[in-house]
Amino acid sequence: MTPTAFSPATTAQLDRADALCTRQGARMTQQRREILGLILDAQTPVGAYDLLEKIKTPDRRPAPPTVYRALDFLLDHGLIHRIERLSAFVPCTHLLHDPHTHNPDHCHDHDHETCLHTAQFLICKSCKGVTEIADSSVLNTLRGICREQNFVMQGASIEVVGLCAECATKARPTRKTAQKQASPSSP
Ligand SMILES: [Zn+2]
Ligand SMILES: [Zn+2]
Repeated sequence: MTPTAFSPATTAQLDRADALCTRQGARMTQQRREILGLILDAQTPVGAYDLLEKIKTPDRRPAPPTVYRALDFLLDHGLIHRIERLSAFVPCTHLLHDPHTHNPDHCHDHDHETCLHTAQFLICKSCKGVTEIADSSVLNTLRGICREQNFVMQGASIEVVGLCAECATKARPTRKTAQKQASPSSP
C-alpha cells in the first residue's frame, strides 16, 4: 500500500496515537495508521466501505476484513468511536487536542477510561457533523442505574440527534421572517 500523505496536523495526531498505542503495549502498523489518518481527515463520520474505497490502489485491493481488523484495533485502543446509528466511525475527540495546550482536567489519560466505556455524541442531521462530549456525570448515572439493576455494564453509546449550533442558526431566520409577517404591525 502506498501510504497516503497526510497534512502536518494529521501527522501530529497520528504520532500521538502511535505513542498512545506504544504506552498500551500495542503496535500501530502502517495500515492502521493510514485508516486512522483517513478517519481524522474526514469532516463527517466514515463507513468501512468508504475507507476501503479510499485505500484501494490500482495494484492493490484490500479485502474488507483487512479494514475491519484495523477498525477493531483502533476501537479497542480508544482512538476512534463507532456511531451505531450511522454505522460509521469518528476519531476520538481527545486525540484531536494537543495535550500541551489542552486543559489538564480534560487530558486524554484522564478521560480515556470514560471514553472507552461510554461515549456521548451530538449528531447534526443537517451537516452530518458529530461532536463528542465526555461528561463523567453521564457515566456515573449509568453506573448507578446498572448497580441497582445488578446489571454488568460493558459499554454504552449515547447518540443525540438534532441540529448543531451553526445549522440551527441557519434554520432560524426563515422562521423569524414568517413570524414577523404573521404578527400584526404595531400602531
Ligand atoms: Zn472519545
Ligand atoms: Zn450542523
